[in-house]
Amino acid sequence: MNATLDHVGIAVKDLAAALAFYRDALGLEIDAPEEVAAQRVRAHFVPVGESKLELLEATAPESAIAKYVDKRGPGLHHITLRVDDIAEAVAQVKARGARMIDEQPRPGAEGALVAFIHPSSAHGVLVELKQAAGAHLVSRVQRFILGDLELISLCDGFFRLDGGSMFGAVPKALWEKRAPADAENRVTLAMRPLVVRGARTMLIDAGIGDKRDEKRHRLFAVDRRRNLDHTLAEAGLSPEDIDIVLATHLHFDHAGGFTVRDASGRAHPRFPRAQYIVRRGEWDDAGRPNDRMRWAYAADDYAPLADAGVLQLVDEDATIMPGVKVRRTGGHTAHHQIVLMESGGRTAAFVADLVPTTAHASDAWISALDQFPVETLAAKQRFGADALARETLVFFEHDPAVAAGYFHDAGGKRQVAPAPHPQS
Ligand SMILES: [Zn+2]
Ligand SMILES: [Zn+2]
Repeated sequence: MNATLDHVGIAVKDLAAALAFYRDALGLEIDAPEEVAAQRVRAHFVPVGESKLELLEATAPESAIAKYVDKRGPGLHHITLRVDDIAEAVAQVKARGARMIDEQPRPGAEGALVAFIHPSSAHGVLVELKQAAGAHLVSRVQRFILGDLELISLCDGFFRLDGGSMFGAVPKALWEKRAPADAENRVTLAMRPLVVRGARTMLIDAGIGDKRDEKRHRLFAVDRRRNLDHTLAEAGLSPEDIDIVLATHLHFDHAGGFTVRDASGRAHPRFPRAQYIVRRGEWDDAGRPNDRMRWAYAADDYAPLADAGVLQLVDEDATIMPGVKVRRTGGHTAHHQIVLMESGGRTAAFVADLVPTTAHASDAWISALDQFPVETLAAKQRFGADALARETLVFFEHDPAVAAGYFHDAGGKRQVAPAPHPQS
């Protein structure tokens, strides 16, 4: 693990008195305070060379800092080590038997992701691991082996959707701890198509692609500086290698990359040898979307597939190739489907918008964009119980940091343990 001392946290009882020492007596500069509402603390950072001191002031009696000061008086509270990949660091620390306070990273000050290690595992010191803001957007290619199947997670970049839309009936006070919102209340999502190599080479979904106009790019803050072209090449694949392109559904953030425009502006299939497999019900619905979700479909993503004669419509849950089958979940769209993989006695699943991010692991955390949320709930309950029991490797198409992980039960709440860092 590559760790740098980021800062030393100091619990303060009387901020004016603390400033009299750190600012006036020591002559240090104090940054503007930052409120961490979720933790009920106000943080005053004091730069000291490469590192900082962090003066921590409670803003409510139930704050952990208030409790700490009551019990032990003001003083050293924690040290913070900055790491490049916090999911990997947490997995490594846990694998060595250390006890975590946070089983998975959560938002901290300055838009960072943080996770605390219990002092009982750190010789009496509260240790915070931190990954700086922005650093958590993971776009690298990740390769997993599942029996005879090779699963390669790619990335078509990132975009942002309104946080309220993404978390539906869940209050912001709860979801913002898992998915920090920007100034426009948007949360960052990735697009992670998956390559499945077995009897054939298949691509599941293809991201947003490059056909959208500037206005839509701004509305959704699309960031494709690293996209499917890059990650496909990094995986050692070219568009000609893809035999099958499988659609979970036809929303623009999943089907946009199915086609590209030629010099004349006409859209045509992007993968020249591929058969494109789409669920018939989804195809029909995309052709006549209702007014509520019309914005999520763009005909030039999929209509050219039929024109080019490369479209294959499936009516039912079917095996696509050995070890790989589709199952309709409904919910998000009436014919939304997930992909279930099984080989060598192990299972994996590409769940698309059924569980778009790790923050959606709980059954009731359902997007307001879903057409039939109660159907989503039933499908999640069924899938979740099964995935937990079978230790299924679950791929999260929209998670900004975690491409794949395993469900586990944390005191009645379903959480995700990121899959150990695979070789890329
Ligand atoms: Zn969708
Ligand atoms: Zn989506």
